[in-house]
Amino acid sequence: MSENSEAIREICDSIIKRVDRAYVAECGRKNEMPTKLWQMWIDSGLLAMGLPEEYGGAGGSLYDIILAMDLLHREALLLPLAVPNFMSREPLLRHGSEAQKRRYLPPTATGEEFFSFGITEADAGTNTFKIKTTAIRQPDGSFLVNGSKTYQTAFVESAHCLLVARTQPYDEKNRTAGISLFIVDTKLPGISATKMDIGMYLPEKNYQVYYDDVVIPADALVGQEGRGLSILFDSLNPERLLVAAMNVGQADYCIKRAAEYAKIRAPFDKPIGSYQSIQHPLARAKTYVEAARTMMYLAAEKHDRGENIGLEANMVKILSSEAFKMAAEIAMTTFGGAGVDVAQDILPFFIAAQNNTVAPVNNQIVLSYIAEKALGLPKSY
Ligand SMILES: Cc1cc2nc3c(=O)[nH]c(=O)nc-3n(C[C@H](O)[C@H](O)[C@H](O)COP(=O)(O)OP(=O)(O)OC[C@H]3O[C@@H](n4cnc5c(N)ncnc54)[C@H](O)[C@@H]3O)c2cc1C
Repeated sequence: MSENSEAIREICDSIIKRVDRAYVAECGRKNEMPTKLWQMWIDSGLLAMGLPEEYGGAGGSLYDIILAMDLLHREALLLPLAVPNFMSREPLLRHGSEAQKRRYLPPTATGEEFFSFGITEADAGTNTFKIKTTAIRQPDGSFLVNGSKTYQTAFVESAHCLLVARTQPYDEKNRTAGISLFIVDTKLPGISATKMDIGMYLPEKNYQVYYDDVVIPADALVGQEGRGLSILFDSLNPERLLVAAMNVGQADYCIKRAAEYAKIRAPFDKPIGSYQSIQHPLARAKTYVEAARTMMYLAAEKHDRGENIGLEANMVKILSSEAFKMAAEIAMTTFGGAGVDVAQDILPFFIAAQNNTVAPVNNQIVLSYIAEKALGLPKSY
């Protein structure tokens, strides 16, 4: 274990002692931000991890962030907001101007400001190439934005949104071209947002966001105009691992809760945990979780060595989300009817596990990517 890992374990242990699942679950039920937990991420320095010191961070690696996410999610201390917060840094660090880095990165370490992420549109769905939100360059160099986005996590609460918009019309021959990435102040005139009714017991709110003749300055553009998708694809691998850490952590929590319940629940006088029908799926889920976790940490180490982890990151997305789903399903079975009793706090994981096979990207398209890259099969999308 590295010195960093040991320090992160100590920080997480201390957080786990001071904030419990009951508090985070209550925030989820109320669809409210767990401010106490967020503050601990800030105060302990966890939020500053992975960001170079010159931009106000604490340095460290993706491995460190993954470790913290995994440890806290094992206790179901969910903070999905951490994902866009960490992920938004990648495109800026790699493609942002020096001025953008100095302005926007330090507040992501102190928690003063965080980014939301705006790519999904109602009609385009998974097919990002088909987005219709436009950002048209004006004679004075600024951009005029029109369109709408859906499922925008914490948009209203965020200071800025990393917005993906079309700067050129769709070109079938070069589908990735003509899309650009912008830093948008979420409070600009012309932006409106409507809260969505998402039944997931999540702390963050989701919004439909509308852009109506929104003027954004020329220096809001990140990287080269028209190259936004390539910039984003660069940042996706770390995101896959962050989500994987949430998956394996929560999967462990489900397995732990189910095993505890299976030891005491005894409708036929002996504990249900003595039945193979309960034991084996729990054991299988635990095995898949550990396999996913092992691959996740190996991939994080490889990423931190500067190597490409395109395949591993996508495989970890599949493994971890399927392991989480397996764990949540057997937890629901173990709890029987109590599984849908919200007070038992198992249902949120069942819903989250299903959702994590679909978002931030669906497993089907991830499998297609693996088939293409690992097996040389034709691209299917
Ligand atoms: C809770 C939550 C939070 C989110 N937060 C954000 C956010 O902050 N910002 C943001 O921009 N987006 C966000 N999203 C959107 C999320 O990224 C999309 O829901 C996801 O990308 C899938 O798009 P879709 O729902 O339109 O599914 P669709 O594209 O309609 O796909 C539906 C189904 O069709 C199948 N499918 C689609 N395409 C293919 C293919 N090529 N090959 C095989 N099968 C395919 C899959 O099974 C898929 O599940 C969020 C979503 C949720 C649920």
